[in-house]
Amino acid sequence: MSKRNIVAVVGRPNVGKSTLFNALAGSRIAIVQDTPGVTRDRIYQDVEWLNHSFTLIDTGGIEPDSKDIILAQMRDQAQIAIDTADVIIFMVDVKQGLTDSDSKVADMLRKSGKPIVLCVNKVDNYNRDSMDVYEFYNLGIGEPFPISAVNKQGIGDLLEEVVSHFSKSSTDEEEDDSVKIAIIGKPNVGKSSIINKLIGENRLIVSDIAGTTRDAIDTPVKYNGKKYTFIDTAGLRRKNKIKDELEHYMIVRTVGAVERADVAILVINAEDGVTEQDAKIAGIAHESGKAVIIAVNKWDLIEKDNHSVKEFTKDIRNTLAFMNYAEIIFISAETGQRLVKLYDMIDMVSENHALRVSTGVLNEIMTQAVVMQQPPSDKGKILKLYYITQASVKPPTFVIFVNDKKLMHFSYTRYIENQIREAFGFKGTPLRFIIRERK
Ligand code: GDP
Ligand code: GDP
Repeated sequence: MSKRNIVAVVGRPNVGKSTLFNALAGSRIAIVQDTPGVTRDRIYQDVEWLNHSFTLIDTGGIEPDSKDIILAQMRDQAQIAIDTADVIIFMVDVKQGLTDSDSKVADMLRKSGKPIVLCVNKVDNYNRDSMDVYEFYNLGIGEPFPISAVNKQGIGDLLEEVVSHFSKSSTDEEEDDSVKIAIIGKPNVGKSSIINKLIGENRLIVSDIAGTTRDAIDTPVKYNGKKYTFIDTAGLRRKNKIKDELEHYMIVRTVGAVERADVAILVINAEDGVTEQDAKIAGIAHESGKAVIIAVNKWDLIEKDNHSVKEFTKDIRNTLAFMNYAEIIFISAETGQRLVKLYDMIDMVSENHALRVSTGVLNEIMTQAVVMQQPPSDKGKILKLYYITQASVKPPTFVIFVNDKKLMHFSYTRYIENQIREAFGFKGTPLRFIIRERK
């Protein structure tokens, strides 16, 4: 199983982070339907390059208007990158030259011990600018990689350097066989309270692993003889932050946590109902293809009658219709109500996430499904489904071979999905389908 590597870009406003994002966009293979109702922020994006794929995140918040704030914000960015990324691209601007805040942030990044790749942007003409590029050696974080994001120059060399740092960091994590659970949700829904309650006496004491800050937000637990690791997304809590900036950091944190997890627990505040912000966070979990549990917390604060659960569930299913595979549980971190049930649910959804179904049985189900509901046709040509096989797990991914891809409407794929779910459950996990033509 592979966890996607995370690459974070840190840099002052206007150095060209967005431009680099755009230059790297569009290479993604579209197997996931766009998440309805959730606009994908430019804050994070999947990048495929040669044989590598990774998630690129822009840790830069909104544009501050004074020098002091720029430095404070860059420190926050750098800290988030240190906590969440496998590799950090530190971007500077050759036209502005070396600034004081660049040096301070470089110090901070260097001390973290994370792999840092120094990217000097706006080198539109290397012959002219090369002397200016050398200046950045003074940052003490290694060789500067000159690029022109606008002209898409130098990006190959930059990415080659970035991916050269991958293999080491990902094998480190694969040695750990615990189930990884990201607790996600907007601020104040009770994420930390849930983690603290769940951990209780079960915290595993582990010997210090060589010092990344990341370990501080990961809590290993042993429960009923099984190992779990809870990944917290709480992070920076500073009062005087602007709303947009907080939201930006929340998204960065969530992407980072979810990518490293097997299961995402989306925590919703029962008092608020399902909000737009919840939907945005849910969208991140959905797109990552992880198993999902929706935990409605603070259930103790709701005046309940025997319709409450049903109505709340309906509300979730409507607002988060794109993830109707998610399991739902109503809990209270305050009273402890149903909290231990979460462990069973985590086991169940993570098993489903890794479930493999034999090709023979899959084809029986598809053949029956086709008999019960005729496939769509267009201008006299009928869709033929030849063969189905499961290509991978986490999430379970199926390949269906057909005569003509254009005839395979989304609704018919959904129908096949429902038949498979009826037979095997697959509760709590998304399923993915790849449609291939076979002549
Ligand atoms: P961000 O604030 O770091 O995301 O920076 P942007 O990507 O928005 O870029 C800021 C400005 O720099 C824009 O006007 C870009 O067109 C310009 N810019 C970005 N990359 C390059 C480059 O490679 N060369 C030049 N000359 N300008 C660039
Ligand atoms: P986070 O920001 O999502 O980590 O939220 P916290 O765990 O810090 O909780 C925010 C506030 O909600 C705190 O004051 C908690 O005591 C309170 N809280 C958390 N869970 C519950 C719950 O189940 N019931 C009640 N009544 N309060 C809760």
